[in-house]
Amino acid sequence: MLTFRKACWTFTCMIKAMRIDIITILPQLLEGPFNHSILKRARDKGLVEIEVHNLRDYATNKQKQVDDYAFGGGAGMVMMIEPIDRCLQHLQSQRQYDEIIYLSPDGERFDQPMANRLSTLQNIVLLAGHYKGVDERVRQHLITKEISIGDYVLTGGELPAAVVTDAIVRLLPGVLSDETSALTDSFQDDLLAPPVYTRPAEYKGWQVPDVLLSGHTQKITEWRQQQAEERTRQRRPHLLDDENDN
Ligand code: SAM
Repeated sequence: MLTFRKACWTFTCMIKAMRIDIITILPQLLEGPFNHSILKRARDKGLVEIEVHNLRDYATNKQKQVDDYAFGGGAGMVMMIEPIDRCLQHLQSQRQYDEIIYLSPDGERFDQPMANRLSTLQNIVLLAGHYKGVDERVRQHLITKEISIGDYVLTGGELPAAVVTDAIVRLLPGVLSDETSALTDSFQDDLLAPPVYTRPAEYKGWQVPDVLLSGHTQKITEWRQQQAEERTRQRRPHLLDDENDN
């Protein structure tokens, strides 16, 4: 008879792994984030496929040029449409994509509900920009979604692509060893997570709350709920006001 663990594993093997393709001019920047810890294990177990593509491989001239001066003048180079279009055409000839996403400071603000939604998709592309950004026609004609990781400007889209990928992958079935862990994290259920403690129970006179040592499951659950609400009220009160429409 199948144990529960084996049944889960069998189910996980039956569903097709999510695929994330990242297009960048600096693939070496993305070597670290996906090759350690939970994301590496998820890839090794076949729960997600993450492929990084060097945009220069799709350049049309010998210099592997992917950027040029802005029409009309002004500071900063602009990423050309042609290599991006060629790379996307190559990827789209192999599979259908649910979203082709450009990381951009003026995109839709990334948050947990968006991570939840993206984690239900099968195939997505993340396009990392550089310099002044991409030729506007890429945004008008080739992209289906634009995401910002916050109201500040970074030098390139690789770190935002890594942030988005990490937030998505940890939600995929089988990635976290305890499936319920992601559900009790901040922003799920519009609440921040309650405080957590581990051994020793007392350090330099600083005590762990008695209730957590009591072994009384119901009281611990109530305490955590009350702490989560209190923390949310203090730090992100808008989460309690908002109608949850996700
Ligand atoms: N000229 C652009 C502007 O003012 O909005 C900024 C370009 S930025 C220097 C270069 C690239 O970094 C962008 O094309 C984008 O891919 C990425 N990037 C920078 N900040 C980002 C953010 N907050 N969220 C997502 N991507 C960002």
